[in-house]
Amino acid sequence: MDNNISVCLTFDFDAESAQVRQLEEPGRVSKGMFAVRVGIPRILSLLDKYEIKATFFVCGWVAEKYPELTKKLVTGGHEIAAHGYLHEYFDTLSFDEERSVIEKSTQILEEFTQKIYGFRAPYFKLSENTLQLLSRRGYIYDSSLMADDHPYVLNLPESSSKLIEFPVEWFLDDWVIFETHQHSPNNAFDIWKSQFDAFLDMTDIPKGHRIMNYTFHPACIGHAYRIRVLDHLISHMKTRNTKFVRMMDAAKELFSE
Ligand SMILES: [Zn+2]
Repeated sequence: MDNNISVCLTFDFDAESAQVRQLEEPGRVSKGMFAVRVGIPRILSLLDKYEIKATFFVCGWVAEKYPELTKKLVTGGHEIAAHGYLHEYFDTLSFDEERSVIEKSTQILEEFTQKIYGFRAPYFKLSENTLQLLSRRGYIYDSSLMADDHPYVLNLPESSSKLIEFPVEWFLDDWVIFETHQHSPNNAFDIWKSQFDAFLDMTDIPKGHRIMNYTFHPACIGHAYRIRVLDHLISHMKTRNTKFVRMMDAAKELFSE
């Protein structure tokens, strides 16, 4: 049996956007800036080491403030996708506010790359309108929901419109593991590797949907002992013939099914 699976490594490039929106003091803001000074460079060199192309969800405000770094992601062959403008809580926005945040952030990111295909809601929180608004703007995938453990189709109310959903999970999110729960590196590796190994053995996943994804944050995974965990995880996955794919490439295939 063909056991091969694909993995999307995804990084939410928030930098200090959320802290700035919440008018936090310089100490908190600096924690977000770790992503820029340390996190992204370490991630890029790790991805280069393994010749992996990944997906970065970038806030519009972050792309405006750090254009050189954003450009570097694109020239490195990585995908940039949308993540709000200033890391908003989408569930608290009015219909018009939400539409304008999506429009503004898409336009900013499309200055760096031809087209933006995907979206991840900050805090994994979206409103009743988010998915339809994304589809109308030409998006083909979302990665914020949790109803399955492999990609699935979201049929939207407007006739024949759909999105591909790449589900996320709290235990596959570095922020929850390291910042919220302060797990040890061995625990983190164990959780992430166990899910990968178990997924590999699953036989009930439809062909073409054997795709996992992990959520990382440069300000979190970029710390020295944590980036090693990711390094070990990738190296384990490599021994199992894993293909690493950008989410938009996987989405295009599933969208045309
Ligand atoms: Zn975020």
